[in-house]
Amino acid sequence: MHHSATRDGSVGLFRLMHRGLNGWSDVGYHYVIGNGTFSGDGEVEAGRPPWARGAHARGGNADSIGICLVGNFDESAPTPGQLRSLGRLLRRLMRASGLTSEDIILHREVRTCRTGCPGRNLDRAAVLALLDRNQVEET
Ligand SMILES: [Zn+2]
Repeated sequence: MHHSATRDGSVGLFRLMHRGLNGWSDVGYHYVIGNGTFSGDGEVEAGRPPWARGAHARGGNADSIGICLVGNFDESAPTPGQLRSLGRLLRRLMRASGLTSEDIILHREVRTCRTGCPGRNLDRAAVLALLDRNQVEET
């Protein structure tokens, strides 16, 4: 789980940056959830294909799926739309892959990474609360 640490963005913008500035083959994340700036509020955009190794958490890329929410969550909070979509996406991925809430990791919880990502306004409790089906309607 990441925030983009930027005010705005989309998978297309991050792909340009990751290719152009970092010299990577593709955007580093597998999913990007928009905040209504360069993509829809709560829009889930596909990044790297799920089978491809990501480039989003040094030391943790071999066996993880990178999800990035657009925004700087040190300065603002995720939008309700982003949180709804994140909950849906996590539940879908967990069902499809047999993962549990234990497998959900914030970037700053990766032992080999020194970062505050995904910001002080998105913590583990908030993410786990999204997994409660009753809290978020299914559509
Ligand atoms: Zn991150």
